[in-house]
Amino acid sequence: MARKMLRDGEKEEYDFDLFVIGAGSGGVRASRTSAGFGAKVAICELPFHPISSEVVGGVGGTCVIRGCVPKKILVYGSAFRGEFEDARNFGWELDEDIKFNWKKLLHNKTQEIQRLNGIYKRLLTNSSVTMIEGEGKVAGPHEVEVMQPDGSVQKYTAKHILIATGSRAQRVKIPGQELAISSDEALSLEDLPKRAVILGGGYIAVEFASIWRGMGATVDLFYRKELPLRGFDDEMRTVVAKNLEGRGIKLHPQSTLTELSKTDEGIRVVTDHGDEFIADVVLFATGRAPNTKRLNLEAVGVETDRTGAIKVDEYSCTSVPNIWAVGDVTNRMNLTPVALMEGTCFSKTVFGGEPTKPDYKDIPCAVFSIPPLSVVGLSEQQALEQATSDVLIFTSSFTPMKNTISGRQEKTVMKLIVDSATDRVIGASMCGPDAPEIMQGIAVAMKCGATKKQFDSTVGIHPSAAEEFVTMRTLTRRLTVESKI
Ligand SMILES: Cc1cc2nc3c(=O)[nH]c(=O)nc-3n(C[C@H](O)[C@H](O)[C@H](O)COP(=O)(O)OP(=O)(O)OC[C@H]3O[C@@H](n4cnc5c(N)ncnc54)[C@H](O)[C@@H]3O)c2cc1C
Repeated sequence: MARKMLRDGEKEEYDFDLFVIGAGSGGVRASRTSAGFGAKVAICELPFHPISSEVVGGVGGTCVIRGCVPKKILVYGSAFRGEFEDARNFGWELDEDIKFNWKKLLHNKTQEIQRLNGIYKRLLTNSSVTMIEGEGKVAGPHEVEVMQPDGSVQKYTAKHILIATGSRAQRVKIPGQELAISSDEALSLEDLPKRAVILGGGYIAVEFASIWRGMGATVDLFYRKELPLRGFDDEMRTVVAKNLEGRGIKLHPQSTLTELSKTDEGIRVVTDHGDEFIADVVLFATGRAPNTKRLNLEAVGVETDRTGAIKVDEYSCTSVPNIWAVGDVTNRMNLTPVALMEGTCFSKTVFGGEPTKPDYKDIPCAVFSIPPLSVVGLSEQQALEQATSDVLIFTSSFTPMKNTISGRQEKTVMKLIVDSATDRVIGASMCGPDAPEIMQGIAVAMKCGATKKQFDSTVGIHPSAAEEFVTMRTLTRRLTVESKI
């Protein structure tokens, strides 16, 4: 599968071995690893701006500029409120009036994403990748057109084209929708809202609810289902919902927004239950759509599905043999580490002489609510659906040691799901402080095929919450294969 690459002195049929459209997580990783295999690589990306559109973006992509990184910075900023509350019973005497300077945090966040944008550019240059600023589109099976910021169009040819244009937030079509913001704007608000309304039950909605509540805003969270975080383990979803409420977030399950309008007091929000709210900010966190509209894909025969996501095979190849796609634009599993994995596998397949399929089994992930949820492997519901033998559930719900002094009424909950036939741990989850840090290690164990017996024979780190994962001896419940619906 290794392909002949352009080398000095060779007759150059194409300008590049690889032309990448989009310098986010997947595109940058694929460019650098392909260049590392000796390929001559170019990448195009839109000019930098914290709020993305069809014409602005920036090297680093969503994760760095308007996703994981700025979000986590705001989560850190927001978590201090709870820490200050908890500190009192540990003897800290804090003034009642603790001030929070949103503009300072926003400024520091923007500086950090600009710094990372610079680092990503240097990573590309140092890997000998040619960077081109502008909007790319596929002009033919081996041709890319880039519209530069001054409006001029440049054409480039390449043996392979990789589309890594990511996704963008979607808007709900209701009257007054233009008054709402997406997560892009939410990460760059000039003023901190006092009253926030959030529509959506996914991880982005839940995370912004935690962020704004931690910063002192009232937060009303509306979502269609009974619980937030569809697709996660139901028991853990209940835990998250309870924690959000415990932290003062008002949950509105099985509800949606029907109309927004501007008033002197703020944005008037009407719900499908006929309730009305006034908000300073309304966030739509209702899903993201793949960035494929302006890429000219139909004309060159690259197939997309009904959501606009590019259809690819197990090696990330599209319906046109030398055009490939990785990351959110393929809507497989929309996470940064997954886009990175797909980018690496693409390079190995096309330029490394080692055809490699991305492996989607046991991918851990986290919801950075306060406290966070983190999971790896199957949920209880998925385990039962796939079961060929009984499924064993071990759970632990306990008051974290810190809360015994702080007095915070919040439990940490952990769960292990075990296949009774093989004794292998097939699912694990935790909601509590440091869950993502702990689950990364559990994910390694699961990737190695660890059994419950091996978990049990592992010595704990004491005193920690993590040790609970190796001391869950008592079976909570057994799900029999017969109980499958
Ligand atoms: C608020 C938020 C929080 C998130 N938090 C997490 C998290 O905690 N953990 C996690 O793993 N994931 C998180 N994600 C998801 C993660 O950011 C994405 O899965 C990841 O960035 C996808 O990488 P990508 O390379 O596919 O696309 P992107 O990173 O979106 O990169 C695509 C790039 O292509 C550019 N582009 C688009 N069209 C063109 C064009 N025509 N020409 C040139 N360039 C173009 C864009 O400007 C962009 O820079 C979060 C996302 C959001 C929105």
